[in-house]
Amino acid sequence: MAKAIRVTLWNEGRHEKLHDAVKKLYPDGMHKTIATYIEKQGGFKIRLAELDQPQHGLTDKVLADTDVMTWWGHMAHGDVKDEIVDKVHQRVLEGMGLIVLHSGHFSKIFKKLMGTSCDLKWREIGEKERLWVIEPGHPIVDGIGEYIELPHTEMYGERFDIPAPDTLVFVSWFQGGEVFRSGCCYHRGRGKIFYFRPGHETLPIYYNEQVLRVIANAIRWAAPGDGPVPSFGNKKPLEKVETKE
Ligand code: ZN
Repeated sequence: MAKAIRVTLWNEGRHEKLHDAVKKLYPDGMHKTIATYIEKQGGFKIRLAELDQPQHGLTDKVLADTDVMTWWGHMAHGDVKDEIVDKVHQRVLEGMGLIVLHSGHFSKIFKKLMGTSCDLKWREIGEKERLWVIEPGHPIVDGIGEYIELPHTEMYGERFDIPAPDTLVFVSWFQGGEVFRSGCCYHRGRGKIFYFRPGHETLPIYYNEQVLRVIANAIRWAAPGDGPVPSFGNKKPLEKVETKE
């Protein structure tokens, strides 16, 4: 049997404490709702971490023990300590997978990895969204139909100020007319990153089986492989080289 993927589900956790509607929808936090689904799939060893824990729940030991991290934040991106962001960034370069969810597009870690503003258009009127699968052979869409339909969502629209993804897996259509690159794969160093748009604190998006399935697939895809650890700097030639004097 394959080794379990060690997953740390990181959640800001502020909306759930401050806003009654969110508390009611996600009483133990959005990360717990996602964890409940993922646990049932098997093959994952799950840990929950939150902003208000010491070191945001991301101690050196936790980081070293994490194969893939998911990140949800919204109202308190600025409260995430730069020193922790640097450590998460370093782990991604070393090979840790990172799944950035919804409003995590504005997190310090995502902006640092992308190098752009990561800004976008938005509107909150509960319109319909269709996420079209545009790479049907990609492992992130295993078990997903041609599209995922979400009856009521917050709209995110282009221009989404990100670098062109290595692979674009989903494009969203919104009832109000906008489109959005809602499933984006990147490689940074040895690490894999997937940005996935769905999820809003006042909507039951993380109870949608299709959305959860994509998150579980993305965790499997982003898990570190066994590839070489690159070495850098001045090197002696591997073969005998005739140099011109
Ligand atoms: Zn939102």
